[in-house]
Amino acid sequence: MARAIYPGTFDPVTNGHVDIVERASHTVDHLTVGVVKDSLKRTMFNVDERIIMFADAVAHLANVEVKPYSGLTINAAREFGATMIVRGLRITSDFEYESEMALMNRRMAEDIETICLFSALEYQILSSSRVKEVAAFGADVSDLVPPNVWKPLVERLAKQKT
Ligand code: ADP
Repeated sequence: MARAIYPGTFDPVTNGHVDIVERASHTVDHLTVGVVKDSLKRTMFNVDERIIMFADAVAHLANVEVKPYSGLTINAAREFGATMIVRGLRITSDFEYESEMALMNRRMAEDIETICLFSALEYQILSSSRVKEVAAFGADVSDLVPPNVWKPLVERLAKQKT
């Protein structure tokens, strides 16, 4: 059985992440979305909120589950029984970082392979940070995030302003 982990901060999940999960779920038997608990990045949503938003967005995919993890991704992969790490690659921004991370992970765990899926054209400039940034200035981001994410995002931004 081919099992993979798709790790990330997902603060919050965007349509680019969901697209990667949909495509990866057709390629492997089982996919665990690993949501980083103790991110080095300062997050807008706590880990439980990030998990609920991601789980709702991929509820239509029977072979996908969403779980928290902390520490090294290779250890989480082992814990979830995964032999592959899935990552998404946008043309301009991700190659250097993702190759370094993949090489470092291979150095630590030769039995775990990193598989990169290219971001779809419509999601190439989409990132969680950009969504939060433009939404904070009032832009309509409803077509960039899953329908269940838009409301909590707008509410959190409104709360932060008060
Ligand atoms: P991390 O903190 O691990 O970078 P992110 O939530 O930012 O977590 O991203 C998780 C993964 O999803 C990374 O592989 C990232 O490159 C990928 N990703 C982010 N945005 C997109 C997108 N728009 N299209 C495809 N992949 C994406």
